[in-house]
Amino acid sequence: MRCSNLYLPTLKETPADAEIVSHRLMLRAGMIRKVAAGIYNLLPYGLAAVRRVENVVREEMNRAGAQEIMMPAVQPAELWEESGRWEHYGRELLRFVDRHNHPFCLGPTHEEVVTALVRGEVRSYRQLPVNLYQIQTKFRDEIRPRFGLMRGREFIMKDGYSFDVDDDAAAESYRRMYEAYGRVFERLGLGFRAVEADTGAIGGSFSHEFMVLADTGEDEIAVCRACDYAANIEKAEVKAEDGPRPTAAEEVREVHTPGMHTVAEVCDFLKIDPTRLVKTIILLADESPVAALVRGDHELNLVKIRNLLGAVEVELADPSTVERVSGAAVGFAGPVGLDGPIHVDAAVALMADFVTGANQDDYHLTGVNLGRDFKAMKVADIRAITALDSCPRCGGEIEITRGIEVGHIFRLGTKYSTAMGANFTAEDGEEKPMVMGCYGIGIGRTVAASIEQNHDENGIIFPLPMAPYQVVVLPVAARDEEVRRAAEELYHGLSAAGLDALLDDRDLRAGVKFKDADLLGVPLRLTVGQKALAQGKVELKKRAEKDFTLVARGEAVAAVAELATAGRTA
Ligand code: ATP
Ligand code: MG
Repeated sequence: MRCSNLYLPTLKETPADAEIVSHRLMLRAGMIRKVAAGIYNLLPYGLAAVRRVENVVREEMNRAGAQEIMMPAVQPAELWEESGRWEHYGRELLRFVDRHNHPFCLGPTHEEVVTALVRGEVRSYRQLPVNLYQIQTKFRDEIRPRFGLMRGREFIMKDGYSFDVDDDAAAESYRRMYEAYGRVFERLGLGFRAVEADTGAIGGSFSHEFMVLADTGEDEIAVCRACDYAANIEKAEVKAEDGPRPTAAEEVREVHTPGMHTVAEVCDFLKIDPTRLVKTIILLADESPVAALVRGDHELNLVKIRNLLGAVEVELADPSTVERVSGAAVGFAGPVGLDGPIHVDAAVALMADFVTGANQDDYHLTGVNLGRDFKAMKVADIRAITALDSCPRCGGEIEITRGIEVGHIFRLGTKYSTAMGANFTAEDGEEKPMVMGCYGIGIGRTVAASIEQNHDENGIIFPLPMAPYQVVVLPVAARDEEVRRAAEELYHGLSAAGLDALLDDRDLRAGVKFKDADLLGVPLRLTVGQKALAQGKVELKKRAEKDFTLVARGEAVAAVAELATAGRTA
């Protein structure tokens, strides 16, 4: 492709509202343009990167025995009513009615549609297993769309679904997908890790997220330094501490703590360690208030408490609810005398004589004890693991890092097949529900995650497998006839060799072209300049490296081809 023909509106300035580097660079490199919150145009350069990812995904899905289909983005409400999710999916599901007043939604995921497809057609164990996937547009009305393609509302996902005769066969399908996902992210040149993930209401340990390791990741992951345990922090269990609870020695006492809302303020004032304080967090679990208690130095894990309560949605209560429930401003809630259910973290159950809010503005209580002063409805692991905890598997040291979830695989069991009647006749003649799995990859998010991992101050550094163009030919003095001709010749040679080459034939200063080449992150660059050319040479440079090498003009195509194929199959 010639730059003069490519619709490539690059930006010199850093866009103001882009918070993370991949978002900034995708805007600056002319890959994406915003249409509305979380909704983007993909421009030629951006779409080319997306297609690269799709192709690798497609190859690995096909290799693993999955077959590509295409399901609609618009889905009828009836199917979601059958699965029960019309009521439970929440506000990420964008619902609307057609001209006949029939309710529909824009698909955030396709379990319902694919289950309805298969149940009509697959009747016998002889037709199983079936594994179907698509690469398609999803819509989720995310509460906080941000970071460009990383968390959009409309986005491209590869979603796949497997159907098996029993749990063992489903485990085998899951294993194949686990391996295929590893190959996908390996081939795309990403630094990633598969981690155990929360399975929510379905339960079991059969869900893994594929995390691209990056400081800007929205997910925290707990990784053991000793064994191979790695889990999303939402899921990572906290190893319960042993030991009896010390006996209560103090009476409850009210202390004046004017204007002290935070753990740090209260602890400073009372000269106590945060491990002596208990935070009372008022939550709304499916809209009804509950209190959760964790130690002052611990953080509540909303996913764990949601699972504990079997709730669909658990969120922090807004300040007015906190005031209504506790009778005090935020920061002064406490369990003593509090109405409604109180759930207590396991670590709190091992404390005696602790400090809590007093349910009264500007007051705390000391000498509080569980059982004596208030009752817990449930005691359980409801806090987030920390680097001070030990590995729930082996007791080793835990490290907390950040990641971007690019893929998610999940064993669904018979949740959808039972609800929607996707049954088959087993070998023994019995009618059984199919055992399902589902498997997703965020295509645009994978491009963004790669840029988070591969960039420098000048722009993107695409790994070869994801690069829209493997090489850019850059004539330094485009008006010099010799230079122009040599550049054209190289460009044709590269294209003839089957490479995706870009020719920067624009009549611009060399400095501008160098800047753009760096911004776009083309992995290889052939620079054609008058001086070297006079000696029959051109410069070959890798985007990721500082120095270039001089290669003979006649050998440049072969040299580029060698680097490009080595990088692409690696
Ligand atoms: P998250 O926790 O980030 O919201 P999720 O658990 O809702 O993700 P899944 O339902 O498992 O995601 O979807 C499969 C994949 O689709 C994810 O692993 C991710 O790569 C991608 N994905 C999900 N939501 C978005 C989004 N809003 N924008 C871009 N990609 C997304
Ligand atoms: Mg989500």
